[in-house]
Amino acid sequence: MAEAEKFLIVNAGSSSLKFTLYEMPEAKVIVNGYVEKIGKDDSFYTLKFGEEKQEKRKAISNHSQAVATMLDELLENNFIGDITDIKGVGHRVLHGGEIYSTSVLIDDEVLENIKSLTKLGPLHHPGEIAGIESLQALLPGVPQVAVFDTAFHQTMPKENYMYAVPYSWYEENGVRKYGFHGTSHKYITEQMQKYLGKDDVNLIICHIGSGASVSCIKDGLCYNTTMGLTPLDGLIMGTRSGNIDSSIIEYICKERNMSVEEVTSALNKQSGLLGIANKNDFRDVEQLANEGDEKAQLAIDMLKDSIVKYIAQYYFQLHGKVDAIVFTAGIGENAMSLRAGIINEIKDVMSISLDEEANDTIAGFKEQNSGEISTSDSKIRVMVMPTNEEYMILKDTYEISEQLKQNQTAPQLKKIS
Ligand code: ADP
Repeated sequence: MAEAEKFLIVNAGSSSLKFTLYEMPEAKVIVNGYVEKIGKDDSFYTLKFGEEKQEKRKAISNHSQAVATMLDELLENNFIGDITDIKGVGHRVLHGGEIYSTSVLIDDEVLENIKSLTKLGPLHHPGEIAGIESLQALLPGVPQVAVFDTAFHQTMPKENYMYAVPYSWYEENGVRKYGFHGTSHKYITEQMQKYLGKDDVNLIICHIGSGASVSCIKDGLCYNTTMGLTPLDGLIMGTRSGNIDSSIIEYICKERNMSVEEVTSALNKQSGLLGIANKNDFRDVEQLANEGDEKAQLAIDMLKDSIVKYIAQYYFQLHGKVDAIVFTAGIGENAMSLRAGIINEIKDVMSISLDEEANDTIAGFKEQNSGEISTSDSKIRVMVMPTNEEYMILKDTYEISEQLKQNQTAPQLKKIS
């Protein structure tokens, strides 16, 4: 009897571990799991399969224990008959630095490189490395693939990724713009290439979720993006400030007697929509604004303006030759009034008119979750399209594992100089 080909996708956060087991090649989801509060007394995990959802409390002190618990559950519930059913593991890795422009098979050298990049992803990399090492130990010989959040952005030209700081900070400390949400921007680019029937697409992709970034895609490749050395830069987000005058940090350290770490933490966790409106979930902010709360309305206006600012910048960087502006992620896919507000700001310059009926019909929570929201006589299409970062991780993992099976050699690692 043919063995079931199962693939495991793992996304380790600083204190969490999400996983999904798929059956390939159908990409059928067998089970989703989410381990939370790793290292805390009240750690717990949830499993979702079919219509069922289970929540279990268990002391899980580190990511290795989280991985062991995950494999135990997969076996006990017969999601896998044996651990050898798992034919490949895909890991979401935050930072590939300048080393990786594509997903790669994890060997000793790759793991060392991921370790050396911990300084650029100090919150995420320790958990991700523990996840990789535990699964390597528990599933010897099973291909493990790293899919980097930064990889897709490695095609940016130097004038777009350099900061005007002492050059030695770049050469010796790696200070430059890397960009994040790369798997999402890549997924949308590939979907748009199919939709438009050509490879050399020029796009402005607005990934607006709790974390948010806009990317400029020129001839199908990333040309610019809003996140920087870290995901703090660019747009206003749920709890992140986006770009600010960097002098604010020293000023607030002195004024409020705070450390650099405390101010950086506040810029990441207490700012953005939360900082202005006291709520980080866009639905709550919208509700408050509808009830007349001025700060909530201000937060929405600031978010809208920060998105318009980057659309305008990228419109000029593409010399006006834009095939489509695409909205994706939680807010982009669902917040119709924000989309309408953004289009209202750009419509005259970019010769776009909003198809109000389509805009009100297309949303993640409605029957139709993707399509054009601009009228057919618009010079630039405006689209709504759901993103699927996990599918990209699965696709790369499956492709690299298949390639390995056929060649029995490691696929060529693509590296930037
Ligand atoms: P992340 O993956 O970064 O956690 P998501 O892409 O899931 O974020 O987006 C979460 C955001 O999407 C939240 O701010 C949430 O309020 C917003 N969102 C989800 N559904 C809706 C909706 N129906 N209308 C407006 N905003 C929504």
